Amino acid sequence: MYPTNKKHKLKEHSAQEQLAFPMRVPLVPLLNRPLFPGVTIQTILPPFRRTKENPNQTVAFFFVKDYQLQPETRRGDEGFAREHKHKKTLRQKFSDFFISKTSKGSALENLPSIGTLAVISPSDVSQSPHSFVSCTGLERVRARKIIPSNNHFLIDIDHVAADSSTINDDSNSSGEFVLDPEQVLIYKKIIFDLLKELIALKPYFAEGTRYLLQHIKKFSLSSLLDLSCSITTSRGTELQRVLGTIPTGKRFNLVKELLDYEIRFSKARQHVMKTVSQRLLIEQKKIYLEKQMKEIKSELGIQGKGNWDIIQKFRKQMEGKQYPKHASDVIEEQFEKLTQLNVSSLEFNTTRNYLDWLVKLPWMTYQTENLDILLAKKILDEDHYSLTDVKKRILEFIAVGNLKGSLHGKILCLVGPPGVGKTSIGKSLSRALSREFFRYSLGGLSDSSALKGFKRTYIGALPGLFIQGMKNLKTSNPVFVLDEVDKLGVSYKGDPSSALLEALDPEQNSEFLDHFLDVSYDLSKVLFVMTANVTSTIPSPLLDRMEVIRISGYVEEEKLQIAKKYLIKKVQKETGIKENQVQITENAIRTLIRDYCREAGVRNLQKNLEKIHRKIAYKIAISKNNSTDSTTKTATATTASSSSSSSSPSRQKEVEEQQKKQEKQNLINFPIIVEEKDLQEYLGKAIFLGDRIYKKTGVGVVTGLAWSHFGGALSYIESIKTEFDEFDEEPSRDKKKVLKKGSHKITGQLGEVMKESSLIAYTFAKKFLREQLPNNTFLDENKIHTHCPEGAIPKDGPSAGVTIVTSLISLALQKPVKEDFAMTGEITLSGKVLPIGGLKEKVLAARRSGINQLIFPKENERDWFELEDYITKGITPHFVQKYADIYKILF
Ligand code: ADP
Repeated sequence: MYPTNKKHKLKEHSAQEQLAFPMRVPLVPLLNRPLFPGVTIQTILPPFRRTKENPNQTVAFFFVKDYQLQPETRRGDEGFAREHKHKKTLRQKFSDFFISKTSKGSALENLPSIGTLAVISPSDVSQSPHSFVSCTGLERVRARKIIPSNNHFLIDIDHVAADSSTINDDSNSSGEFVLDPEQVLIYKKIIFDLLKELIALKPYFAEGTRYLLQHIKKFSLSSLLDLSCSITTSRGTELQRVLGTIPTGKRFNLVKELLDYEIRFSKARQHVMKTVSQRLLIEQKKIYLEKQMKEIKSELGIQGKGNWDIIQKFRKQMEGKQYPKHASDVIEEQFEKLTQLNVSSLEFNTTRNYLDWLVKLPWMTYQTENLDILLAKKILDEDHYSLTDVKKRILEFIAVGNLKGSLHGKILCLVGPPGVGKTSIGKSLSRALSREFFRYSLGGLSDSSALKGFKRTYIGALPGLFIQGMKNLKTSNPVFVLDEVDKLGVSYKGDPSSALLEALDPEQNSEFLDHFLDVSYDLSKVLFVMTANVTSTIPSPLLDRMEVIRISGYVEEEKLQIAKKYLIKKVQKETGIKENQVQITENAIRTLIRDYCREAGVRNLQKNLEKIHRKIAYKIAISKNNSTDSTTKTATATTASSSSSSSSPSRQKEVEEQQKKQEKQNLINFPIIVEEKDLQEYLGKAIFLGDRIYKKTGVGVVTGLAWSHFGGALSYIESIKTEFDEFDEEPSRDKKKVLKKGSHKITGQLGEVMKESSLIAYTFAKKFLREQLPNNTFLDENKIHTHCPEGAIPKDGPSAGVTIVTSLISLALQKPVKEDFAMTGEITLSGKVLPIGGLKEKVLAARRSGINQLIFPKENERDWFELEDYITKGITPHFVQKYADIYKILF
């Protein structure tokens, strides 16, 4: 689109003067922008013939806002179609648009009232209907009526009142804006200045604009306004507004606004382009200088090319990973430092190693965790039998995470005897949450540097366990299982428990500071699961922050199911034995549990099953070897014999039979069945021939129930009367006197509490006996030795009180207690029986040993009713408040 030259315009002018209004001309809708008088465009026109009414080949261009048309139609440009292919459909669309409205009589609503009458360039009139022709705008016209014609539209148009072609006629019929010549000159000057400014900003507008500027005097204000706004990049609707505004003064304001905007827009665009290219220049310059510096340094031997390559490698590793600001700052600092260092220096290696840790650590890489309770339940059940309580607690824990959206800020602590599945529960928790798993045993750890790392100044320094774990797992939110937190040590190298607290405490672990790393690392998204045998030795600040879940141990039935459903499968997988090759009978497993692995957990059971499977694997391997050996041997024998005595068929038959016999001998019949009687062959002699040292307890011997971190166990107390010289180092001269006084000694590696408890028991027993049987002075007059067997095992706690009293009284009465009874309870000097802990473990121990009458303190009755049925089934509890109750039951 460009302004016509004067010659052209004048010629058109004379043509225009001949026009008679109203007139009927073909209608050409314009989609992008309207055509202004005096402007020439190239376009494709609808196919129409030269008619009588239109001898000058004029057309009327009207701007149609493209949103008024269907989307497909919008693809079309000026004219009916730019592409020959779309011609028909587009025309159809246009006709739909006009005709549907026409039938409702509102066709003109879709056209702006003002359009432009244009003349087709005479040289183009005879062009084919699909080629571009140039049309030049003549004047503004008003639409009156649309008439659908054969394959296009005609429009009746009217002359627009004010004549915009004469220089000074800037008034309109209503006389709204009447401009005097001075005003016209000022307006023209303003437009002139704006165009001049624009030409400097938009050189590609230069040609048309320069023509306007050079011939400004020849154009009327109205034409100047039309032509100058047509060279802007304003939108079609804005331009139509200008076209539709007849009063020149009003039109001047609109055009001035458009030119102003165009200038501002061009300036802003130029500014952006400038800054972008400046930035690009700086970047390019930096790369160029860096390369130059690298070359210079390597020429001078100050620094090898290696430094750059290493930094580039690190940068590559950092791509796509996120780093917190404080970490990336340190990394950049270290890069800077690395460039200054000589490759062969020690410092270089230290820095490179440090950078390796900083870059590879997962700073903000989080795995999406699964907080779906049902899935978690399925996974926990898949990995572990029973443990209903523990699973329930873990699921509750996940449920809270589910509501909160995450699980951080919690430390779980699983407490129980060894082998009950604490670590493996931790592992399945990580599987259930679909997080990575890391395990470390804290047992015996006495150096805090193992947790917090060594300062980088030490040769061979490394970060602590947490940072190492994170780097290995490559995620920032794994599950960390830390075993044996109850066995932390303390040494001159620091207290690991305080380092542990720093890492675990949700209040401070978001800024955990490792000595090696020296940059704070966020451990708050890690889920910590601790395991311990007892809580008493866990440092209390740590224990305070933990959520303790207790696992007490398994009964025979549970162990049987665990073995059948989990352990055997696991062991077979590990030893490469197929399921159909071995069958261990249920009786054999029961005996295995009873006689070989009686502890609370199942680790020993697993070990023994492994042992059985290893031996079977050996058998299978040997038999395979033998059979291949024997086949080759007999094969050679057969060929030898056949060659030597080919004449004797009876000999050959003999050899074949021999071969078959041997094969039969070597063949193992699958499945190999392991029965109760075979256990000795696989595992050697049974370890426990009974938890019960005594099948029947005699005088002075009583069965107690004890608890240690290995679970519950039977603990016997035996008392005898001793001759006074036997253990008195300095026998008194006055034997009789001493004998009369009586005394008591107790042995069996007892702790302070248990020793005190035995003193109380002795005093109480004497008093009780005096009250019950005043004639029985046995305890007052005799020297008594009480012993707790299995002297190699340390024992402590007050719960053996009632057992010691009973042992002493049984001795004094010379009467054994009733059979199949076991007891536990703390005794006071006045004979009250106080409650004890570990009831479940104690009942489990009694069950394992086949004892079914148990005496407990009355206050433990509540705990008893919380036990599962399979634990209490077949056991009769007796709840007592004072010792006299026990006396009544047993004697
Ligand atoms: P802990 O950490 O308590 O000492 P582990 O977690 O190491 O014990 O468990 C020892 C073995 O016993 C593991 O192979 C574990 O899978 C298995 N185990 C323990 N309890 C169960 C159970 N309830 N179901 C299945 N396997 C179990």
